[in-house]
Amino acid sequence: MPQAHRLDCEKEAADCRFIVQSEDESEAIELARNHMREVHGQEFTDDDLRHEHMETV
Ligand SMILES: [Zn+2]
Repeated sequence: MPQAHRLDCEKEAADCRFIVQSEDESEAIELARNHMREVHGQEFTDDDLRHEHMETV
């Protein structure tokens, strides 16, 4: 099974159930970054997302 890169926004924001999951890390990061900016008004760098917020499953 290939690994998938995943952001579970519910861990970051209790009222949000958004989940990003993709086998393509750059795609997962882009989707997560867009979501954080558009929905939560927060800017994260790719490195922040990769190291602090995302997990591989
Ligand atoms: Zn969210």
